[in-house]
Amino acid sequence: MVYSAEKLSEEKVFKDPVHRYVHVRDRVIWDLVGTKEFQRLRRIKQLGTTFLTFHGAEHSRFNHSLGVYEIVRRIIDDVFAGRPEWNDDDRLLTLCAALLHDLGHGPFSHAFEKIFDLDHEEFTRKIILGNTEVNRVLVRVGADFPKKVAEVIAKTSEKKLVVSMISSQIDADRMDYLQRDAYFTGVSYGQFDMERILRVMRPREDQVVIKKSGMHAVEDYIMSRYQMYWQVYFHPVSRSAEVILTKILHRAKQLYKENYKFKYELMHFTSLFREHVTLEDYLKLDESVIMYYFQIWQEEPDPILSDLCKRFVNRNLFKYAEFDPAREYKKLAQLTTLFMKAGIDPDYYLVVDSSSDLPYDFYRPGEEEERLPIHLLMKSGELRELSRESEIVDAISGKRRTDHKLYYPADFLQDETTGAEWKRQIRSLLE
Ligand code: CA
Repeated sequence: MVYSAEKLSEEKVFKDPVHRYVHVRDRVIWDLVGTKEFQRLRRIKQLGTTFLTFHGAEHSRFNHSLGVYEIVRRIIDDVFAGRPEWNDDDRLLTLCAALLHDLGHGPFSHAFEKIFDLDHEEFTRKIILGNTEVNRVLVRVGADFPKKVAEVIAKTSEKKLVVSMISSQIDADRMDYLQRDAYFTGVSYGQFDMERILRVMRPREDQVVIKKSGMHAVEDYIMSRYQMYWQVYFHPVSRSAEVILTKILHRAKQLYKENYKFKYELMHFTSLFREHVTLEDYLKLDESVIMYYFQIWQEEPDPILSDLCKRFVNRNLFKYAEFDPAREYKKLAQLTTLFMKAGIDPDYYLVVDSSSDLPYDFYRPGEEEERLPIHLLMKSGELRELSRESEIVDAISGKRRTDHKLYYPADFLQDETTGAEWKRQIRSLLE
């Protein structure tokens, strides 16, 4: 039997708290799960620093990736199979792309990408196409199969229907992470009737569409996404931890550039500091490795690096104040000067962080991010864009909401052994 069609003699199941079971029958999928590059995702948390706010949020990208695979498998096997618009030859391609879509994520992706100019999407492509165990599995399906999988994940594939199942405004990725993140954080937002949505999904040549009768389930999904962004993903306390994490990396990189003598061997960080990270270097990084460095850097003589690492490890985070950059830039300049006078380096201890989200958007050609809208399939067979039918969705369509906060170490400002007068002035500005 050809490898791509090979089935396991017995179905394998993963127990999953969100989908109850993840079912694997295809040999290729089972082999991919067993590769070391996929197993690495166990050591990378889905939600980065969010566990410092919601202590349950320790779930990994491994969990999530299996979940996305399972949702796609159910769409294909339970809803699309046998429909004339669905080409079952695309089944394995879609399943592999779903399983591997986050493969290139590194530890605490956002902070690392920002400071070291890395791009997880580029690493996903490199892992799929490079000299890896994942690549060796995919090549057994066909010489050009790794490339096809990479193109679906990069959204450059001409198979638009397949792409839309994995990345669109209503895709398996979002449906899994909303439910999974809600489950592990323990919040009540993030829940919607996925069973209903799956049952009303229909394949079309270039996208997945939703039967009109499922509109309310989709409204619920969009609202729960909106709630999750503001209640969980942009939680100001998680962002404080993210700010500190970013500043640790910033400080360590700066010290390296200044030829600072680190007490301990840098190993994993050397290629990051030199900004020449090979695939091999990258695959050695995970969150346990990074936490090890944060542990040992607590003992570095550099007071800033050591303080920031202590804060992250022991969860002594920065406090925050509301901040409006358009109106309060003068206040920020004033604060910066006062921080310097008080002997607190504003580069590391006075940080503006902005988060912004667009809950749903219809298609706007030529815009920075051309979003594929959600289309409803009307009884007549006509397709209508969701916000034209749903007043709830129309109310939030295209409305970007941004939140700015100013982060600072309140404990430093309370300590009046030095710079008491300046610190008092800072406090009165921040309160
Ligand atoms: Ca994902």
